[in-house]
Amino acid sequence: MNIILLGPPGAGKGTQARILADRFGLVHLSTGDMLRASQAAGTAVGLEVRDIMARGDLVTDDIVIRLIEEEFDKGASIAGAVFDGFPRTLGQADALGMMLERRGDRLDAVIEMRVDDEALIARVTGRFTCASCGEVYHERTRRPKVDGVCDKCGGTRFVRRDDDNERAMRHRLYTYYRDTAPLIGYYYAKGLLRSIDGLGEIEEVAARIAAALPKAEARP
Ligand code: AMP
Repeated sequence: MNIILLGPPGAGKGTQARILADRFGLVHLSTGDMLRASQAAGTAVGLEVRDIMARGDLVTDDIVIRLIEEEFDKGASIAGAVFDGFPRTLGQADALGMMLERRGDRLDAVIEMRVDDEALIARVTGRFTCASCGEVYHERTRRPKVDGVCDKCGGTRFVRRDDDNERAMRHRLYTYYRDTAPLIGYYYAKGLLRSIDGLGEIEEVAARIAAALPKAEARP
């Protein structure tokens, strides 16, 4: 099963993608995570994209398409994948369609997560993650149970993304509406789009997503 999670920055795509990947045995493919890993590793791509990402602009289609192709070459398409933050342009959507087709595979659903803009800004500006396992927390709505200790892995170092500030976030939203929102119509026309309310508790949203997936694919 191949699923795209589509939605503005801060909609909770990463959190829900992890849940879906666990539940359905899918590979979680996040181009944002891959690009941040390239930066952390100091690769040429990482250096090239650092300022673009910090501003909240999109990196070129070529770069992200290559990252996804590399994952496919490792065999990611066999189990199926949940795409998080990819595709973000019509060019990327076309490229993904062709990559899947070449492998005799297809997309099963595109889940659009809807959240209003002010809620997104509030979410993203309080967000921080565990440096060891990537678990996501929030200053106001989801602090670790024991202050300073990750609930999931016990890690004690937390990080914030360079682009999780109000200025970059407003620009990321602008970029989303300009470049990515046209994918809503693109996938609607293909009969793949399912829109869900992305506001609410993590488990509530996960249940809405599960209910929106093609029925034959869901496992108990
Ligand atoms: P994300 O973690 O998905 O919010 O992505 C963080 C940043 O990485 C974005 O603001 C872009 O600068 C870049 N990025 C991630 N995925 C893509 C993509 N599919 N196309 C272009 N840029 C991307």
